Amino acid sequence: MSSKHQQQRGAIGKVLMILLAVLAVGALWLYLDEDSARELKQEVEIRSMAVIGEAVAKRLGSSDGEATHGSAVDLIQRPIEIREVAENIQYATGVGNTIMITTSEGNVLLDTGLVLQSASQLRLLKEQVSDAPIHYIILSHSHADHIGGTRFWTGEDTEIVTHKNFEEEQRYLSELEPYQFGRNRTLFPWLPAWEDRPNLEMMRYGGIVPTITVDDWETYRFTLGGMEFEVIGVPGAEGADNIVLWLPQQKTLITGDFFGPQFPQFPNIFTMRGEKICKPVEYIKSLDMIIALEPEIIIPSHLDPTVGAQEIREGMVRIRDAVQYVHDETVAGMNAGKSVYELMKEIKLPPHLELVQNHGKVDWAVKSIWEYYMGWFHFDSTTELYPVPARDVYADLASVTGNEVLLSLAQNYLTKGEPVKTLHITEIALAGDPQSAPALSLRQQALEELLVRAESGMQNDYEIYWLKSQMAQTASTN
Ligand SMILES: [Zn+2]
Repeated sequence: MSSKHQQQRGAIGKVLMILLAVLAVGALWLYLDEDSARELKQEVEIRSMAVIGEAVAKRLGSSDGEATHGSAVDLIQRPIEIREVAENIQYATGVGNTIMITTSEGNVLLDTGLVLQSASQLRLLKEQVSDAPIHYIILSHSHADHIGGTRFWTGEDTEIVTHKNFEEEQRYLSELEPYQFGRNRTLFPWLPAWEDRPNLEMMRYGGIVPTITVDDWETYRFTLGGMEFEVIGVPGAEGADNIVLWLPQQKTLITGDFFGPQFPQFPNIFTMRGEKICKPVEYIKSLDMIIALEPEIIIPSHLDPTVGAQEIREGMVRIRDAVQYVHDETVAGMNAGKSVYELMKEIKLPPHLELVQNHGKVDWAVKSIWEYYMGWFHFDSTTELYPVPARDVYADLASVTGNEVLLSLAQNYLTKGEPVKTLHITEIALAGDPQSAPALSLRQQALEELLVRAESGMQNDYEIYWLKSQMAQTASTN
């Protein structure tokens, strides 16, 4: 048995011990009043979570290279530590940050991180920042990397503040979890297989019930320890339930995923990993609202804050104008009778609106906006109306054409620098003979060429993850 397996076994043993302890303590609950029982259960869960989190961190930390997969892995391997933005605003780093605002009358949290990292974040924040009660937990949106630790932080009187759509978003994400998990695992191969994932109740996604909600472009205000808090519904960003927190006295905006993991960058209007569309015109309206606040500091839920009123303003204006530009060009192109593919090729950001596209990508945004307005039927081919995709005739096509013709055509496209056309042809060839070594090799070369272009071009994370996953799959068929 490899040491890695022994390590994993050790970790599983430890987890089992903790679970036995949970059961033993369970008997005690019968003799405690409701509050103490709840606190004890919470304490036991936090301790169990800490052990599980540590075991997973160890496994990922000892990654032997095959799991290194760009920035998603960098994010999960980011050390968990406390960083200070101001004396009363500190955050625990991780895949998702947990941000704590302290006041003389108790504390406020914005987001609670990934469940696997939540126990470490909680321990550090309590030890190094403040152990005072948490009066409000504000959840920027319902994604798993932002709400994981909520149950461990929630006390008897904690208010949970979310967008009005939070519960609906949580519902559909829960219902589609098995399907989405598969997609995410393709992009982030460090995730365990669905059947191997830890399936403990405390780690399960969902089940959070807000006590206060805010609607689109509405503001919920409260004061705690002399500090003013404004929770604002800002649709159009990640999910349909995005909120941000504005601290007017400190001109600080806590943004969740409103801008994505980096600032400034072109937003993900319709994430390629799948989900509902982020409505572009609503996003522009939300941006206008945020620009008017004139923030001097923005604190995102991934990576680190940006400081400086002018830099922030310029970044926000550029994002707004870039989205507006792509939107307007797409609409104009549609009205001019151009196809979605023509528009994907043509529409580029002008130099004064240039933004990094490692999260969102302009050509995908064009397709997103097109489909947002016009839906699934592109009015292109009658076959779109029926459940018989072109792929269904590939095997027959391959047998009448013969592999040789297809392979030379695929090679020609590759030589001419058209790797996507090579992929089309190899899909036909592989439908005829899934094990064809020359077809698999051409497919691999086309993917490699696209990867080189992606890495030296826009460096879009999701495109890179996808291409790498397809290359790994092709290599394993070979
Ligand atoms: Zn996120």
